[in-house]
Amino acid sequence: MKGMILVMDGMGDRPIKELNNQTPLQAANTPNMDQMAKEGITGIMDSIAPGIRPGSDTAHLSILGYNPYEVYTGRGPFEASGVALDVIPGDIAFRCNFSTMDENGIVTDRRAGRIREGTKDLVEKLNTMVLDDYKDIKIIFKESTGHRAVLVLRGEGLSDKVSDADPKVEGKAPAEVVALDGSAEAEKTADILNKVVAKTYEMLKDHPVNLERIKNDLPPANVVIPRGAGAVPEVEPINDKYEINSACIAETGLIMGIARFAGMDVIEMEDVTGGVDTNLDNIRDTIIDQVKNSDHDFFLINIDGADEAGHDGNVKQKVEFIEKVDKVVMSELLKLEDVYIFLTADHSTPISVKNHTGDPVPILIRGPEVRTDDVEEYNEFATYKGGLCRIRGSDVMNIMMDYMNYSHKFGA
Ligand code: ZN
Ligand code: ZN
Repeated sequence: MKGMILVMDGMGDRPIKELNNQTPLQAANTPNMDQMAKEGITGIMDSIAPGIRPGSDTAHLSILGYNPYEVYTGRGPFEASGVALDVIPGDIAFRCNFSTMDENGIVTDRRAGRIREGTKDLVEKLNTMVLDDYKDIKIIFKESTGHRAVLVLRGEGLSDKVSDADPKVEGKAPAEVVALDGSAEAEKTADILNKVVAKTYEMLKDHPVNLERIKNDLPPANVVIPRGAGAVPEVEPINDKYEINSACIAETGLIMGIARFAGMDVIEMEDVTGGVDTNLDNIRDTIIDQVKNSDHDFFLINIDGADEAGHDGNVKQKVEFIEKVDKVVMSELLKLEDVYIFLTADHSTPISVKNHTGDPVPILIRGPEVRTDDVEEYNEFATYKGGLCRIRGSDVMNIMMDYMNYSHKFGA
């Protein structure tokens, strides 16, 4: 039997005055999700643990059955797999910004005028970088969206216990990277990183992309500033762990990165942007096609928009987006039989907080032979009374594998 975890990113919320003390999910007209609640079993979930405010990455790791406190070594490695950079255990990965530095070494724009085009060419140049003192260290850059990029250091004797080069404010030089634990590996990595930063300026300051930007009065992207060091951890592929053939359907690099980390196949989609303006028809068609026609038997699906509306504090947008997903996506998923659907959010992103909080999120499982409960609506309040009660993210895979009949008996 096939199964899916469908994550509505950041959909959970708190009661809002202007919605008569309802949450956006309560206020939204969602007949299809409510129908799933009627046919299924519901509850609430702490994706990591009660009161812990999860990132989307750590929440998804937990829901996929990994202990985020063990495998989450910082954002760098996940950003790297998010931009499809093949990292291997032991690599040290960093998130980076293309920034603008003046001839005195002062950062004048941390985001290089939010550069949008040309970073691929800059990266091509940067990937020829070799440091004289560290010829055995492989230095790999990869552009991400906008001014963002990823840096990976590969080689012997490296450490992720190093500080950030990001000065955090403009008008300062890039911060000197230092070892955080006094180890020889960290000292070496810090030295490499300081040399890499200096070298990016040398290599980029007269690059044609930047000469063109200067000509057009735009800040040149002439230095790369790394932060968020993380060592790429060793993780057991999810397919081995649960004996499944899994795939991920997601919009953002961050979630795709988590999926690649877990060894899932990542399904490419066109015209899918994340946020509230995304192409939900494409997402729906991809899900249906994968469930019906592929060999994959397990899916992680992430739809991003509700989180964006939450971060923006935009009630109307959050309600409307939830309604749109219900109408465009859930209506068709409801027609699938013989598929277990676990519907959830990875965390709450309350309108009032504009960030993630530790409030538990509503969950439901709909599929063959699920013991239904009396809950007839899918929202934060109704599902409190559901038969799944209150679970943790780390329970989700076990419950799904049990329903899908992939579990093995513990004991005789
Ligand atoms: Zn999230
Ligand atoms: Zn978020």
